[in-house]
Amino acid sequence: MNYSIIGGSDAGISAALRIKEIDKHAQVDMFLADEYPNYSICGIPFYLSKEINHLNSLAHRSVEEILSKGIGLHTNHTIHSIDVANRQIAGNNRSYHYDKLLIGTGAVSLIPPIQGVDLPGVFTLRWIGDMLRIEEYILQHQVNNALIIGGGYIGLEMADALIKRGLRVTLVEALPQVLTSVDLPLAEMVRSKLQDNGVNVFVNTKIEEIESIPGKLKVHGTNDFGSENQLVLIAVGVQPETSLVHNIEKGFKGAIKTNRKMETSVPNIYAAGDCIETYHAFLKENVYLPLGSTAHKQGRIAGENMAGGHVEYQGSLGSQVVKIFDLVVGRTGLNDKDCEKYNLPYRTVSSELWDHKHYYPGARQLTIRITGNPDTEELYGAQIIGHTGSEISKRIDIIATAIHNNYRVPQLNDIDLTYTPTLSSPWDPVQMAAQKWTTINKGNREK
Ligand SMILES: Cc1cc2nc3c(=O)[nH]c(=O)nc-3n(C[C@H](O)[C@H](O)[C@H](O)COP(=O)(O)OP(=O)(O)OC[C@H]3O[C@@H](n4cnc5c(N)ncnc54)[C@H](O)[C@@H]3O)c2cc1C
Repeated sequence: MNYSIIGGSDAGISAALRIKEIDKHAQVDMFLADEYPNYSICGIPFYLSKEINHLNSLAHRSVEEILSKGIGLHTNHTIHSIDVANRQIAGNNRSYHYDKLLIGTGAVSLIPPIQGVDLPGVFTLRWIGDMLRIEEYILQHQVNNALIIGGGYIGLEMADALIKRGLRVTLVEALPQVLTSVDLPLAEMVRSKLQDNGVNVFVNTKIEEIESIPGKLKVHGTNDFGSENQLVLIAVGVQPETSLVHNIEKGFKGAIKTNRKMETSVPNIYAAGDCIETYHAFLKENVYLPLGSTAHKQGRIAGENMAGGHVEYQGSLGSQVVKIFDLVVGRTGLNDKDCEKYNLPYRTVSSELWDHKHYYPGARQLTIRITGNPDTEELYGAQIIGHTGSEISKRIDIIATAIHNNYRVPQLNDIDLTYTPTLSSPWDPVQMAAQKWTTINKGNREK
């Protein structure tokens, strides 16, 4: 059997490895547009901050390791077309036959329709190539100040990275809050953390033009915003890269539609990762939620099914965690804005809790927001913010697991969680937050 894989990042490599695990004799060829197979693009900010010094440290696997798995690697090999009828793909002036094909072309950075986005010194950040260009520009031009357009998690990680690197940083967000994936009170804590660390933050400000002036870029925005910087980074989101996909059903934002086996509308063609719509485990419908964690899972499922398996993707919950300076914010499931968007009745209760017994040195406060259905007590989601050492991601993962198992909020108390005073409490903060949610909810219902 001959398997072709377009894309050599999270989705592509996960599929390729799974196929080879199941079918050792399979011919698997992986085509990628750049020369960095299986690199961690999630690690890019930490290279630019200089916390990681070697480019190769970002490789999940070396080229030799990939080749040793029997996977054929075709780097710098952009595929231009898919001939669905004849089962062929074409790129670099030749075509290749496939029995089964995976499309794992990921996403590309969105570029806002404003003047000046193509000026030297203006960058987007998606690929290792983008990262190296930014690095070179910083060094060549001795950049000591930068403006970031976009307060999503990549903009925030980059603000942190460039401050660590010694630059002065301005961050501009068009919406009323940074990090729109969490509710406003948590986003305000993130904003304070950025400001405390020297980031000049503007919200409710839409960038309208970037202008070249001697030695600098002048950035103009609404509310008379004006700022002069040596480098501008655009981080306003992504869109699925499906430009080579025709005659295959697409949906939301042009992302490829798949079923939960990662099969597209065309037989023998599968798709996974940031180029597809994602099945949401709670909403039971497809959404667009591009994340590396999701791409890995979907790629593996696609690979297994391509090699004859029958597994289904169990769905995303938008589980996400991000570190900004010494602050960590995590979220999973639905928040207030999601509930309003989907017209769901909801109650959110916020709790301030110690991350471990406060008599033991180093205890810090966490804020946990639990959201659930006030009538059925169904657990919808949670958001947690606190210090890096406070095991935020573990605690978000507990809630994600509970949502996957259709828990009601009070059932969080039934889970046998670990305890030692240095790390938690006999009731973990997640459970205390669930207790507070249940008490307040009962109180309100009995009124
Ligand atoms: C700075 C940054 C930080 C991030 N941090 C996190 C994080 O902390 N956690 C998290 O879960 N996610 C994070 N992400 C998102 C995560 O990196 C993506 O969701 C993930 O990489 C998607 O994997 P993918 O394989 O679907 O696509 P991509 O990683 O986008 O890869 C697409 C692949 O397809 C290839 N390709 C595209 N078109 C063609 C073509 N026509 N022919 C041949 N090859 C082609 C590309 O060369 C590439 O190899 C981050 C992203 C960025 C940019």
